[in-house]
Amino acid sequence: MYDTIIVGGGPAGLTAAIYSARSGKKTLLLEGGAFGGQMTLTEKIENYPAFPAGIAGPELGRLMREQAEAMGAEVRREKAKEISLKDKTVATRKGSYAAQRLVLAMGAYPRPLGVKGEKELVGAGVSYCAVCDGGFFRDKTVAVIGGGDTAVHDCEYLSRLCKKVYLLHRRSVLRGGDAALARISLPNVEFMPNSEAAEFTSESGRLNGILLKDGRSLAVDGVFVAVGALPRTELVEGQISLDEGYIVTDERMRTEIEGVFAVGDIRKKPLRQVVTAAADGAVAVSESY
Ligand code: NAP
Repeated sequence: MYDTIIVGGGPAGLTAAIYSARSGKKTLLLEGGAFGGQMTLTEKIENYPAFPAGIAGPELGRLMREQAEAMGAEVRREKAKEISLKDKTVATRKGSYAAQRLVLAMGAYPRPLGVKGEKELVGAGVSYCAVCDGGFFRDKTVAVIGGGDTAVHDCEYLSRLCKKVYLLHRRSVLRGGDAALARISLPNVEFMPNSEAAEFTSESGRLNGILLKDGRSLAVDGVFVAVGALPRTELVEGQISLDEGYIVTDERMRTEIEGVFAVGDIRKKPLRQVVTAAADGAVAVSESY
């Protein structure tokens, strides 16, 4: 029996592990994929305090994991297969674990655009991660779809690899306003406001272009979809109420179920950043119990 089990090894989960273990609680963290979560998809994080020159996402994840282990947390590379919120148990392929306190830190995954051809062309020209797949499009023409920070970051990154990068946004203004526009004012980046994709077209099973809703078409070798994220709640659906897919907590990260907490991108909150995820993790395990 653990005091705290944390499911998910992104910045929220890893910080919860650091705080929980440091306060002397028997702590287990389970992560099925890469430590650092979505940070591992980010080439450089420029707004996490104490790194004036920025830090690579995977490196920040590695450091957080190291710190959690140094504090005495048991950190396991095991994917949770079943979670019982009522019993506070988590099952993986290797075993079943129980705790007094469960911290849900499963994060989020990229939201699909939902256009015709998208699903079929994933891995054949359609990607959700510029840092992971940008290298396949060296000297080619690509489009990024979206208008938030991820889309802007992806354009900057891809502009260094690709011949031409289009940024398609459904509105006239980017979420980050003029500052975001300035970041993509690069010789090989073309901002296409008021542009909504209707279909991804292909030839011989590979993406070759985008048809827009207004009838225009664009020839591209790759598309990077950057239209936000969806919370990873599949293991707890039906056990807890969700609001627009996210878990609702109070300011101490408590959910409606006693002893169950939610932290980071999986919970309903106004700002999803590494620093706010880390803060959630600290708050969740700092309440005395
Ligand atoms: P986001 O801020 O939610 O932005 C999603 C963008 O996709 C919006 O511009 C939205 O358009 C657009 N969109 C959504 N559904 C669409 C659809 N069906 N068709 C076309 N466009 C669609 O997501 P994000 O950019 O992934 O960022 C998520 C969070 O991570 C944010 O808090 C962001 O600041 C943070 N982040 C930070 C960094 C960093 O380096 N600090 C990097 C990446 C992300 P509308 O504007 O029209 O709604």
